[in-house]
Amino acid sequence: MQDVVEKVYEQVVARNRGEVEFHQAVHEVLESLGPVIAKHPHYAEGALLERIVEPERQIMFRVPWVDDAGQVHVNRGFRIEFNSALGPYKGGLRFHPSVNAGIIKFLGFEQIFKNALTAQGIGGGKGGSDFDPHGRSDAEVMRFCQSFMTELARHIGPSTDVPAGDIGVGGREIGYMFGQYKRLRNSYDAGVLTGKGLAWGGSLVRTEATGYGTVLFAQSMLATKGESLEGKKVLVSGAGNVAIYAIEKAQQLGATPITFSDSSGYVVDEAGVDLELLKQVKEVERGRVADYVERRPGARLVTGGSVWDVPGDVALPCATQNELDGDAANTLLRGGCGVVSEGANMPSTPEAVEAFQKAGILFGPGKAANAGGVATSALEMEQNAGRTRWDFATAEAKLTGIMADIHDSCVAAAEEYGRPGDYVLGANAAGFTRVADVMIAHGIV
Ligand code: NDP
Repeated sequence: MQDVVEKVYEQVVARNRGEVEFHQAVHEVLESLGPVIAKHPHYAEGALLERIVEPERQIMFRVPWVDDAGQVHVNRGFRIEFNSALGPYKGGLRFHPSVNAGIIKFLGFEQIFKNALTAQGIGGGKGGSDFDPHGRSDAEVMRFCQSFMTELARHIGPSTDVPAGDIGVGGREIGYMFGQYKRLRNSYDAGVLTGKGLAWGGSLVRTEATGYGTVLFAQSMLATKGESLEGKKVLVSGAGNVAIYAIEKAQQLGATPITFSDSSGYVVDEAGVDLELLKQVKEVERGRVADYVERRPGARLVTGGSVWDVPGDVALPCATQNELDGDAANTLLRGGCGVVSEGANMPSTPEAVEAFQKAGILFGPGKAANAGGVATSALEMEQNAGRTRWDFATAEAKLTGIMADIHDSCVAAAEEYGRPGDYVLGANAAGFTRVADVMIAHGIV
């Protein structure tokens, strides 16, 4: 790392003690920016680095709620409004027991660059709570969401901050939060949340968008080598929104996804994942991956080790941060993996990224490869503003075009800064320069 960049990183670590995921995300971006700063020193002179690593606003609040037995619980809510240079803050809400300020901050930081790559005029933010929806009744989830939104409502709005879903937050939770927002504001601001139901302002393709986009990104990377996904064996982790629709798009493009996972283990289905059954188990029944294996002859559940122990051509990590470490990366490489496209945010550890880059395989970092979700959220906002609704084919064609543009921007930036084929540098450099140029135009604010 260059001196000027190193200093900024040290300041981030000192100021945000113990927030290791945030340190990791900042380190990865700053490390890439060396060649950018060398070519354009005015970014360093204008303290753009110092400014971009400091959130514009951090909100932390109490979320009290009552369970079905009458017991009172207190969770912690977060919304980090990180950067609004390009538009209203935009980024999901995560409900998971591991959530803390450092995790939300890393996600919000990544979101700045991801949203810039979509070129749709959206700033970066993220939020969530350490609430665990697993095993909670619908009524409990509703009461939690209402309490969470009671505080969040005063901070968000269609032109201010537009949350969406993430881990633990899907259509059900967005519905309960939208209902409470509408009640508090006495205003039908459809554009205040994305990932809404189709009957009340949602967009077709939003559900599929992140997973589809991740696979489209893999396909674009392969195309640079004259290859495609046709006939490839694909390893997927996770069994939530991103994983399911990554599997769907991979199948549509002629590949064979053979794995998925959740926190109870991973499933190997050599015959190819039965997507209808997986959707039934996960989306309809909210079950565990073991429920799939019970009904699918030939599929096996593995509760030790990691899904990355399975040999395959393409890996799509779609569960959570740091789920793929250096050892797993080397195992994947030995198993013949030549493409990694990140559906989750920062799923590969720095050691894993290094191993992939050293081996020279195609590696698409999350902030580029999973940007299809937020891109389609921006399309949802566009439809809400125009009080209109596009059909599936129209929305999907727009998503496909945006993913191709993101891919090409990464390729162009990697070439411009002397590291052709380095999608990490490409995504960070292209995202950073777009935001930094606008921050300069807006003055010191
Ligand atoms: P979901 O809640 O729908 O699914 C998450 C899946 O990952 C579940 O199968 C879950 O298993 C598994 N998982 C989560 N945490 C862990 C863990 N610590 N160990 C093992 N398995 C785990 O979330 P999404 O699919 O929406 O999100 C997945 C990833 O994609 C996240 O990194 C998210 O930030 C990222 N992402 C999501 C976008 C979206 O549009 N939804 C957009 C861009 C990125 P279990 O149920 O057992 O916890």
